[in-house]
Amino acid sequence: MNVWSFASGSDGNCYVVESEGTALLVECGRPYLQTKDFLESIGIEPEAIGGILLTHAHGDHSRSAAHFSATHRVPIFASHGTLAALRLKDPSLARPVESGKTYPVGQLDVRPFAVPHDCREPLGFRFEGGTGRAAVATDLGWVPHSVSCQFNDLDLLVLEANYDPHLLETGNYPGFLKRRVSGTYGHLANAAAARAITVCGDRAPGFVWLAHLSEENNSPRHALQTVSRILRRNGLGHVPIRTTQHRRSSLRWTSSLARERQLPLFA
Ligand SMILES: [Zn+2]
Ligand SMILES: [Zn+2]
Repeated sequence: MNVWSFASGSDGNCYVVESEGTALLVECGRPYLQTKDFLESIGIEPEAIGGILLTHAHGDHSRSAAHFSATHRVPIFASHGTLAALRLKDPSLARPVESGKTYPVGQLDVRPFAVPHDCREPLGFRFEGGTGRAAVATDLGWVPHSVSCQFNDLDLLVLEANYDPHLLETGNYPGFLKRRVSGTYGHLANAAAARAITVCGDRAPGFVWLAHLSEENNSPRHALQTVSRILRRNGLGHVPIRTTQHRRSSLRWTSSLARERQLPLFA
Protein backbone atom coordinates (compact mmCIF):
# COMPACT_ATOMS: atom_id res chain seq x y z
CA MET A 1 0.00 0.00 0.00
CA ASN A 2 1.15 3.51 -0.82
CA VAL A 3 -0.21 6.72 0.65
CA TRP A 4 0.76 10.21 -0.50
CA SER A 5 -0.05 13.55 1.07
CA PHE A 6 -0.46 16.10 -1.70
CA ALA A 7 -1.88 18.86 0.48
CA SER A 8 -3.28 19.16 4.00
CA GLY A 9 -4.83 22.12 5.79
CA SER A 10 -7.46 24.81 5.49
CA ASP A 11 -6.12 25.84 2.06
CA GLY A 12 -6.87 22.44 0.55
CA ASN A 13 -6.61 18.74 1.30
CA CYS A 14 -5.75 15.83 -0.94
CA TYR A 15 -4.28 12.36 -0.36
CA VAL A 16 -3.87 9.30 -2.54
CA VAL A 17 -4.27 5.74 -1.24
CA GLU A 18 -3.06 2.98 -3.57
CA SER A 19 -3.02 -0.77 -3.19
CA GLU A 20 -2.50 -3.48 -5.79
CA GLY A 21 -3.32 -1.18 -8.70
CA THR A 22 -6.35 0.54 -7.14
CA ALA A 23 -5.72 4.25 -6.57
CA LEU A 24 -8.20 6.46 -4.70
CA LEU A 25 -8.17 10.20 -4.31
CA VAL A 26 -9.07 11.07 -0.73
CA GLU A 27 -10.35 14.68 -0.73
CA CYS A 28 -10.09 16.92 -3.76
CA GLY A 29 -9.63 20.33 -2.21
CA ARG A 30 -6.80 21.81 -4.27
CA PRO A 31 -7.25 23.41 -7.72
CA TYR A 32 -7.97 20.90 -10.49
CA LEU A 33 -4.82 21.46 -12.57
CA GLN A 34 -2.54 21.14 -9.53
CA THR A 35 -4.26 17.91 -8.57
CA LYS A 36 -3.87 16.50 -12.07
CA ASP A 37 -0.18 17.53 -12.18
CA PHE A 38 0.43 15.94 -8.79
CA LEU A 39 -1.10 12.64 -9.92
CA GLU A 40 1.00 12.66 -13.06
CA SER A 41 4.13 13.38 -10.99
CA ILE A 42 3.56 10.15 -9.04
CA GLY A 43 2.81 8.16 -12.20
CA ILE A 44 -0.98 7.91 -11.86
CA GLU A 45 -3.21 8.94 -14.77
CA PRO A 46 -6.33 10.84 -13.62
CA GLU A 47 -8.50 8.37 -15.56
CA ALA A 48 -6.98 5.53 -13.52
CA ILE A 49 -8.37 6.90 -10.24
CA GLY A 50 -10.98 4.44 -8.97
CA GLY A 51 -12.89 6.96 -6.93
CA ILE A 52 -12.82 10.32 -5.20
CA LEU A 53 -13.63 9.97 -1.51
CA LEU A 54 -14.81 13.07 0.30
CA THR A 55 -15.00 13.30 4.07
CA HIS A 56 -17.29 16.36 3.89
CA ALA A 57 -18.33 19.25 1.69
CA HIS A 58 -16.21 22.11 3.10
CA GLY A 59 -14.36 23.76 0.22
CA ASP A 60 -10.89 22.83 1.48
CA HIS A 61 -11.88 19.17 0.94
CA SER A 62 -14.16 19.31 -2.09
CA ARG A 63 -13.15 22.36 -4.15
CA SER A 64 -12.35 20.61 -7.45
CA ALA A 65 -14.10 17.27 -6.84
CA ALA A 66 -17.06 17.86 -9.16
CA HIS A 67 -14.83 19.12 -11.98
CA PHE A 68 -12.32 16.27 -11.61
CA SER A 69 -15.12 13.73 -11.45
CA ALA A 70 -16.93 15.05 -14.55
CA THR A 71 -13.73 15.50 -16.59
CA HIS A 72 -12.34 12.02 -15.97
CA ARG A 73 -15.59 10.13 -15.26
CA VAL A 74 -14.45 9.23 -11.74
CA PRO A 75 -17.22 8.45 -9.21
CA ILE A 76 -17.46 10.39 -5.93
CA PHE A 77 -17.95 8.36 -2.75
CA ALA A 78 -19.37 10.50 0.05
CA SER A 79 -22.27 10.72 2.50
CA HIS A 80 -25.72 11.81 1.33
CA GLY A 81 -25.19 15.10 3.15
CA THR A 82 -21.91 15.78 1.34
CA LEU A 83 -23.31 14.79 -2.05
CA ALA A 84 -26.36 17.01 -1.53
CA ALA A 85 -24.08 19.99 -0.87
CA LEU A 86 -21.98 19.27 -3.98
CA ARG A 87 -24.98 19.34 -6.36
CA LEU A 88 -23.25 17.25 -9.04
CA LYS A 89 -24.40 17.95 -12.60
CA ASP A 90 -24.16 14.24 -13.39
CA PRO A 91 -25.75 12.29 -10.50
CA SER A 92 -24.69 8.99 -12.11
CA LEU A 93 -21.18 9.68 -10.73
CA ALA A 94 -22.44 9.89 -7.13
CA ARG A 95 -21.82 6.91 -4.85
CA PRO A 96 -23.54 7.54 -1.51
CA VAL A 97 -21.86 5.77 1.41
CA GLU A 98 -22.88 5.31 5.04
CA SER A 99 -20.95 5.07 8.27
CA GLY A 100 -20.38 1.51 9.48
CA LYS A 101 -20.72 -0.22 6.09
CA THR A 102 -17.89 -1.58 3.94
CA TYR A 103 -17.55 -0.70 0.26
CA PRO A 104 -15.22 -2.64 -2.04
CA VAL A 105 -13.58 -0.30 -4.56
CA GLY A 106 -11.21 -2.26 -6.79
CA GLN A 107 -8.69 -4.00 -4.51
CA LEU A 108 -9.52 -1.83 -1.49
CA ASP A 109 -12.26 -2.11 1.10
CA VAL A 110 -13.41 1.33 2.17
CA ARG A 111 -15.11 1.69 5.54
CA PRO A 112 -16.55 5.15 6.30
CA PHE A 113 -17.11 6.21 9.92
CA ALA A 114 -19.02 9.21 11.25
CA VAL A 115 -17.06 12.06 12.85
CA PRO A 116 -18.27 15.16 14.77
CA HIS A 117 -17.79 18.27 12.60
CA ASP A 118 -19.92 21.28 11.68
CA CYS A 119 -21.43 20.15 8.41
CA ARG A 120 -23.87 17.51 7.16
CA GLU A 121 -22.82 13.88 7.72
CA PRO A 122 -19.03 14.23 7.83
CA LEU A 123 -16.99 11.03 7.64
CA GLY A 124 -13.55 9.57 8.10
CA PHE A 125 -12.35 6.61 6.05
CA ARG A 126 -10.59 3.36 6.87
CA PHE A 127 -8.93 1.45 4.00
CA GLU A 128 -8.04 -2.21 3.99
CA GLY A 129 -6.20 -3.88 1.15
CA GLY A 130 -4.02 -6.92 0.58
CA THR A 131 -0.94 -4.79 1.27
CA GLY A 132 -1.95 -2.74 4.29
CA ARG A 133 -4.47 -0.82 6.38
CA ALA A 134 -4.74 2.94 6.63
CA ALA A 135 -7.24 5.56 7.79
CA VAL A 136 -7.80 9.26 7.27
CA ALA A 137 -9.59 11.30 9.94
CA THR A 138 -9.42 15.10 9.83
CA ASP A 139 -11.89 17.84 10.69
CA LEU A 140 -13.34 16.47 13.89
CA GLY A 141 -14.01 18.30 17.12
CA TRP A 142 -13.25 15.32 19.33
CA VAL A 143 -12.67 11.59 19.03
CA PRO A 144 -15.51 9.38 20.27
CA HIS A 145 -14.83 5.70 20.91
CA SER A 146 -16.65 4.84 17.66
CA VAL A 147 -13.88 6.73 15.85
CA SER A 148 -10.79 5.74 17.87
CA CYS A 149 -11.66 2.03 17.49
CA GLN A 150 -11.24 2.54 13.72
CA PHE A 151 -7.55 3.29 14.43
CA ASN A 152 -6.82 -0.17 15.88
CA ASP A 153 -4.29 -2.30 13.98
CA LEU A 154 -3.62 0.28 11.28
CA ASP A 155 -0.34 0.44 9.41
CA LEU A 156 -0.78 4.18 8.84
CA LEU A 157 -3.07 6.71 10.50
CA VAL A 158 -3.54 10.16 8.98
CA LEU A 159 -5.01 12.14 11.87
CA GLU A 160 -5.84 15.80 12.35
CA ALA A 161 -3.67 17.74 14.82
CA ASN A 162 -5.16 21.15 14.16
CA TYR A 163 -4.25 23.44 17.02
CA ASP A 164 -2.30 24.10 20.17
CA PRO A 165 -4.77 25.52 22.75
CA HIS A 166 -2.35 28.22 23.96
CA LEU A 167 -1.59 29.44 20.42
CA LEU A 168 -5.33 29.45 19.62
CA GLU A 169 -6.19 31.33 22.81
CA THR A 170 -3.49 33.99 22.36
CA GLY A 171 -3.76 34.20 18.56
CA ASN A 172 -5.50 36.62 16.23
CA TYR A 173 -8.68 34.68 15.51
CA PRO A 174 -11.88 36.47 16.55
CA GLY A 175 -13.65 34.97 19.55
CA PHE A 176 -16.41 33.23 17.57
CA LEU A 177 -13.82 31.48 15.40
CA LYS A 178 -11.78 30.41 18.43
CA ARG A 179 -14.94 28.88 19.89
CA ARG A 180 -15.77 27.20 16.58
CA VAL A 181 -12.29 25.66 16.19
CA SER A 182 -12.16 24.35 19.77
CA GLY A 183 -15.83 23.29 19.91
CA THR A 184 -17.06 19.71 19.81
CA TYR A 185 -17.91 20.12 16.11
CA GLY A 186 -14.72 21.97 15.22
CA HIS A 187 -11.14 20.75 14.95
CA LEU A 188 -8.84 18.47 16.91
CA ALA A 189 -6.23 19.77 19.37
CA ASN A 190 -2.75 18.21 19.39
CA ALA A 191 -3.24 16.50 22.76
CA ALA A 192 -6.64 15.11 21.73
CA ALA A 193 -5.03 13.60 18.64
CA ALA A 194 -2.40 11.97 20.85
CA ARG A 195 -5.02 10.53 23.21
CA ALA A 196 -6.94 9.07 20.27
CA ILE A 197 -3.78 7.09 19.49
CA THR A 198 -2.95 6.06 23.04
CA VAL A 199 -6.42 4.58 23.68
CA CYS A 200 -5.53 1.97 21.02
CA GLY A 201 -2.88 0.63 23.44
CA ASP A 202 -0.89 -2.20 21.89
CA ARG A 203 -3.17 -2.05 18.84
CA ALA A 204 -1.93 1.50 18.06
CA PRO A 205 -1.13 2.40 14.44
CA GLY A 206 2.33 1.49 13.15
CA PHE A 207 2.91 4.97 11.69
CA VAL A 208 1.16 8.33 12.18
CA TRP A 209 0.90 11.43 10.02
CA LEU A 210 -0.35 14.51 11.82
CA ALA A 211 -2.48 16.40 9.31
CA HIS A 212 -4.58 19.54 8.75
CA LEU A 213 -2.30 21.60 11.05
CA SER A 214 -3.49 25.18 11.44
CA GLU A 215 -1.02 27.74 10.09
CA GLU A 216 -2.23 30.29 12.68
CA ASN A 217 -2.74 28.15 15.75
CA ASN A 218 -0.17 25.38 15.43
CA SER A 219 3.25 24.51 14.08
CA PRO A 220 4.90 21.21 13.17
CA ARG A 221 7.13 21.66 16.25
CA HIS A 222 4.19 22.17 18.62
CA ALA A 223 2.27 19.23 17.15
CA LEU A 224 5.24 16.83 17.18
CA GLN A 225 6.34 17.82 20.71
CA THR A 226 2.89 17.44 22.25
CA VAL A 227 1.96 14.23 20.50
CA SER A 228 5.33 12.50 21.01
CA ARG A 229 5.37 13.45 24.71
CA ILE A 230 1.94 11.87 25.27
CA LEU A 231 2.81 8.79 23.21
CA ARG A 232 6.07 8.32 25.16
CA ARG A 233 4.25 8.58 28.50
CA ASN A 234 1.91 5.84 27.33
CA GLY A 235 4.59 3.44 26.13
CA LEU A 236 4.13 4.32 22.45
CA GLY A 237 7.32 6.33 21.95
CA HIS A 238 8.37 3.93 19.19
CA VAL A 239 5.52 4.97 16.85
CA PRO A 240 7.01 7.18 14.10
CA ILE A 241 5.21 10.53 13.62
CA ARG A 242 5.46 12.99 10.74
CA THR A 243 3.62 16.20 9.91
CA THR A 244 2.04 16.90 6.52
CA GLN A 245 2.58 20.21 4.74
CA HIS A 246 0.00 22.65 3.50
CA ARG A 247 -0.01 23.39 -0.19
CA ARG A 248 2.42 20.90 -1.54
CA SER A 249 3.25 17.27 -1.80
CA SER A 250 5.13 16.29 1.35
CA LEU A 251 4.92 12.67 2.48
CA ARG A 252 4.78 9.23 0.94
CA TRP A 253 4.34 6.08 2.98
CA THR A 254 4.78 2.53 1.68
CA SER A 255 3.70 -0.47 3.72
CA SER A 256 6.41 -3.00 4.53
CA LEU A 257 4.14 -5.73 3.14
CA ALA A 258 4.04 -3.92 -0.19
CA ARG A 259 7.83 -3.60 -0.08
CA GLU A 260 8.21 -7.33 0.58
CA ARG A 261 5.96 -8.09 -2.35
CA GLN A 262 8.08 -5.91 -4.57
CA LEU A 263 11.17 -8.04 -3.87
CA PRO A 264 12.07 -10.59 -6.54
CA LEU A 265 10.99 -14.12 -5.70
CA PHE A 266 14.47 -15.66 -6.06
CA ALA A 267 16.78 -12.99 -4.79
ZN1 LIG B 1 -10.78 21.15 6.54
ZN1 LIG C 1 -14.21 21.05 7.61
